[in-house]
Amino acid sequence: MAKLYFRHGAMGCGKTMQLLQVAFNYEERGHKVCVIKPATDTRNGTKLLTRIGPERETDFCFDRKVDLFEKISKEYRDVHCVLVDEAQFLTKKQVDELMLVVVKLDIPVIAYGLRLNFKREDGGFEGATRLLQLAHEIDEIKTICECGRKAVYNARFINDKLVADGPDILIDDPKRKTKVEYKAICAHCYQDYLEGKK
Ligand SMILES: [Zn+2]
Repeated sequence: MAKLYFRHGAMGCGKTMQLLQVAFNYEERGHKVCVIKPATDTRNGTKLLTRIGPERETDFCFDRKVDLFEKISKEYRDVHCVLVDEAQFLTKKQVDELMLVVVKLDIPVIAYGLRLNFKREDGGFEGATRLLQLAHEIDEIKTICECGRKAVYNARFINDKLVADGPDILIDDPKRKTKVEYKAICAHCYQDYLEGKK
């Protein structure tokens, strides 16, 4: 029986790398996969890139209006697995559609993404929230904070200072000389940064 999987982890934990490894394993055994990601993540165009090196073209990128059940049942009915990168950017409806892929088409869906946004609030990513509610299996991909503890949060830094509030999407603004960075850190370091101790 196919299942819906959510594999979450902080930034830089190697989610995309794991996705590529799973795709490779299927293909090595002669099975087809469908690799997709939301168009929200446009940093790398339509490709999946990893920090270590391996990369791969997606089968398709989708915007928030695409019905994933409809598209996959029409165009990718013959695949053995659907792999979703940056799954936090799915809409709630699209997660429900992926569940239909699992239940009606009997195709496993493995979604990789962030669990929390930089505000550490539930619902920061509607896709992640819905995956946590629906997935048959939820796994954490672990990574390490700069202090050596397990990193659990994705913190936003503006000009090297932790900022716990603000707009959902924020990137560098060369005109205003703001440098925006995201770092995966542990709860202790988060608090230390917040209190200005780091
Ligand atoms: Zn730490």
